[in-house]
Amino acid sequence: MYPELSLYINGEFLGIEGRRHQDVVNPATEEVVGRLPLATREDLDTAVEAAHRAFLTWRDSSPLERSAILRKVAELARQRAPEIGRNMTIDQGKPLHEAVGEVTVCAEHADWHAEEARRIYGRVIPSRNPNVRQLVLRQPVGVCAAFTPWNFPFNQAIRKISAALGAGCTIILKGPEETPSAVLAIAQLFHDAGLPPGCLNIVFGVPAEVSAHLIASPLVQKISFTGSTAVGKQLAALAGSHMKRITMELGGHSPAIVFDDADVDTAAEMLANYKLRNAGQVCVSPSRFFVQRGAYDRFLRRFTDVIGAVRVGNGIDSSTQMGPLANQRRVAAMEGLIADSKARGGKVVVGGTRCSDTGHFFAPSVVIDISDDSMLMTCEPFGPVAPVVAFDDLDEVLARANKLTYGLSSYVFTESAKTAHAVSTRLEAGMVNINHFGSALAETPFGGIKDSGIGSEGGTETFDGYLVTKFVTQV
Ligand code: NAD
Repeated sequence: MYPELSLYINGEFLGIEGRRHQDVVNPATEEVVGRLPLATREDLDTAVEAAHRAFLTWRDSSPLERSAILRKVAELARQRAPEIGRNMTIDQGKPLHEAVGEVTVCAEHADWHAEEARRIYGRVIPSRNPNVRQLVLRQPVGVCAAFTPWNFPFNQAIRKISAALGAGCTIILKGPEETPSAVLAIAQLFHDAGLPPGCLNIVFGVPAEVSAHLIASPLVQKISFTGSTAVGKQLAALAGSHMKRITMELGGHSPAIVFDDADVDTAAEMLANYKLRNAGQVCVSPSRFFVQRGAYDRFLRRFTDVIGAVRVGNGIDSSTQMGPLANQRRVAAMEGLIADSKARGGKVVVGGTRCSDTGHFFAPSVVIDISDDSMLMTCEPFGPVAPVVAFDDLDEVLARANKLTYGLSSYVFTESAKTAHAVSTRLEAGMVNINHFGSALAETPFGGIKDSGIGSEGGTETFDGYLVTKFVTQV
């Protein structure tokens, strides 16, 4: 049922023969479902050389050709979404409807880049001298190396691949070893859509070895990474030592601020459900809940009711609302956050423990009476544990929300236009969602500030990281 796993280099799917491998485990059952080949150094060099050779042609391809391939990929992704989603549930754990939804929604990234690829405009600068023509050209940067994580395996890979290929670059992408099926499905989509060999290469391996090798390669010009801030800083430093361009989509610890004047019950329900999407393993998950004192009791009642009623189980069962965590590391991290909260006098009002002997399940949890310097309020939880704290006024909550070095997303519920204006200006975050959740659409820029990253994916900004600017002056 679960697909055969491979590497994809220079247009060929390469199996396990002669390579080390890693087992792929279903996080709901802990059964081994597949064996993933790990790339050798020779494989990585073959991929880089293939990407470089392909770039020499692909950079001059017509935007219409690139656009047509990306459109075909989007169409095939929608057709294959049930199967790709099912395999993603098996290796990643998220409920089937979330996994299939990830594929159908994120097919739009291929569509969006197909559209924007036809609009990579340069400009003409009026000259001081009538005989001089001054042009600004935007050209593909070259071979890109990208690294994507295990929480949204389809989403994160298709965004980076579509941006690189749409811009006229070629790419080697290291997918997540624990959840490889969706990334390989993307390779198959591009293969079947007629992408020339070498333009896209998919590898897996020991992450630190692969990234060190690819970033140091003189043929690789750009690095794009989605993952933790700690690893992002290491890769950014390495890229800096080789003077390579970077896009970094890193961690967050997003404040969700609910003011007294909000529709409090609706805010509580929306935030509880959004928090538990993908079991909280979402970089933009609302994860620090600040509620104004007058609304606190009412919010907490509704929020805990919704969180406490969520059905946890194997994502393949249609009644499941929240699946297991993707790996044992996340369960251990949740236990650490709960232990630290309790040691500091915090109260666990819902959940607080793992909830099955088999599989990486952790109960949706709510913690109150917790200080802003606790682990739960300062370290990205990346799991289904939600701290709820009270605040008194706007200036206070903005100072507390902005206190961390993270600056990815933020959520605000208020009926006051004045408050909405103030938070949208003063929150230190790459994205501000007011009274609804609206980030991560293909046509809107997605990215963080401060320690949460550099650069945007999506929106009209999407090709900025994949293009270089060249000035041409001619008499
Ligand atoms: P981790 O920090 O070891 O790894 C995070 C990701 O980076 C993984 O996909 C991993 O394969 C990759 N990685 C690690 N070292 C690398 C290296 N030297 N070169 C290239 N890639 C490397 O931790 P983890 O246990 O896998 O994940 C836990 C933390 O990662 C979470 O707490 C969360 O902060 C972060 N994370 C963030 C995102 C995101 O979307 N921003 C996604 C997944 C994980």
